[in-house]
Amino acid sequence: MAPIPKECEFLVIGGGSGGLASARRASGMYGAKTIAIEDKRLGGTCVNVGCVPKKVTWNAAAIAETFKDAKAYGFGYDNFSFDWNTMKKKRDAYVERLNGIYARNLDNDKVELIRGRASFVDKNTVEVNTHDGGKEIVKAKKILIAVGGKPRFPKIPGVEHAISSDGFFDLEEQPKKVATVGAGYIGVEMSGMFMALGTETHFFIREDNLLRTFDPMIQKTVTETYVKQGIDLHRGSDISKIEDIGNGKKRITYTEHKLRDKQYTMDVDVVLFAIGRDPEITDLNLDAVGVKLAENGHINVDEYQNTNVENIYALGDACDKNFELTPVAIAAGRRLSDRLFGGKKDAHLEYSNIPSVVFAHPEVGTIGLTEPKAREKYGDTVKVYQTNFTAMYYAMMEPDEKGPTAFKVICEGPNERIVGLHILGAGVSEMLQGFGVAIKMGATKADFDRCVAIHPTSSEELVTLK
Ligand code: FAD
Ligand code: NDP
Repeated sequence: MAPIPKECEFLVIGGGSGGLASARRASGMYGAKTIAIEDKRLGGTCVNVGCVPKKVTWNAAAIAETFKDAKAYGFGYDNFSFDWNTMKKKRDAYVERLNGIYARNLDNDKVELIRGRASFVDKNTVEVNTHDGGKEIVKAKKILIAVGGKPRFPKIPGVEHAISSDGFFDLEEQPKKVATVGAGYIGVEMSGMFMALGTETHFFIREDNLLRTFDPMIQKTVTETYVKQGIDLHRGSDISKIEDIGNGKKRITYTEHKLRDKQYTMDVDVVLFAIGRDPEITDLNLDAVGVKLAENGHINVDEYQNTNVENIYALGDACDKNFELTPVAIAAGRRLSDRLFGGKKDAHLEYSNIPSVVFAHPEVGTIGLTEPKAREKYGDTVKVYQTNFTAMYYAMMEPDEKGPTAFKVICEGPNERIVGLHILGAGVSEMLQGFGVAIKMGATKADFDRCVAIHPTSSEELVTLK
């Protein structure tokens, strides 16, 4: 017997960062009858296999680094030990608590949750294969696609023996030796965490530098620091095959541009690919409604999160020209509900000057244009202020133990409006948010200079640049 359709004003497919934010605002704040559909765990990528467990692991890595630094300050210990499995179990429990909080928040905001996998029937109807083996049909006036993304893998023999960032969070024990691939956010963060926690880390990148979409100062400093800290960086490399050789070991075959024509092999415990993410849209049956995709396979939306189909919207990692960041998905979701149900006709997210941090070793913060992009846009009116220095934290350490600090401020025009800020060093992840507010307000170099420095800190260098 066909299920009786449920009806609502707003249907949200995907209970992750953006979907939940939008659903809760629509229902909790504006009283729109809202249903959300989630196939896996509430909270999506960020809570379950992204920002949250990543930051917990990064905290563990930062503690390991502090242990190493402590000797320089006179602390004595013979050795310290780290039990990955203890950290993993406690991290899983924390994530589970968050899943519960997310469910209660939906209840409080009167959003009905259906657990299952959704696909379109027509532009106002979605079918859900529910977790209890049944089916639900939901009819809605407006539908939001907030299905996020999934890790991309290369098409090479034996790739099934490799993991992605999802698999990183499933590792029960700390691998002794890993091969990581991909010079972007995830590759840099996960290689850095493995290294700081004591895993022998072989990092395979197809070009010469890490974080190549970042300002050249960041690329150069992170790349040099990773090598100095002991990451074995395989530049210009390409892994062509993975074999399972038993006892949990994998054998990779690769080339690298030290000797282009030679093929090498290496045995490792884990091979991890972090080469970008694809939208999770394969099961949505978008053809049934004619939602247009961009060339890269992501959903095409305008700045108001409209797709080409009336009353169907999309946001977050599933979309084209998006910053794949949790606060971006959340902000886009809330503004969409403000516009659709809160009478705020022009509400939308401005996709410019969005701050972001890479939890690398050391941390990296960035907002606005890189120097090459600023020069492309503003030509000779660009002025760059830059400094490299040793933070006072490292004062007690030997030269080879000191970490880098590098700041760059990029200005444009006679008023020296700040159009880019790039910072690297201990503590910059917490430093960036406040500077982000100032830049979003249109700060100039003179505004920075007018603010009295806080001494002794690293951030004071940003208001005393010459
Ligand atoms: P998601 O949060 O992925 O939610 C989508 C949800 O839709 C998922 O729960 C999925 O199960 C569900 N879904 C998919 N298809 C269907 C379907 N057909 N039916 C029902 N449900 C469906 N961002 C930061 O800002 N800071 C960080 O430090 C950070 N670290 C990260 C670390 C890692 C390892 C990764 C992978 C990402 C990280 N991100 C970080 C990015 C951030 O997690 C994403 O940008 C964010 O989660 C995107 O939100 P979303 O709502 O678009 O999608
Ligand atoms: P990214 O797009 O950041 O980086 C992937 C990199 O992999 C590319 O830049 C490219 O670098 C390299 N690459 C691409 N294809 C291949 C290939 N076939 N072989 C080898 N290398 C390849 O993607 P991630 O997967 O790292 O992360 C996805 C997104 O998640 C990020 O863009 C970010 O928005 C978000 N995220 C945010 C975090 C944060 O806020 N701290 C943390 C983690 C993720 P190159 O061209 O130099 O080879």
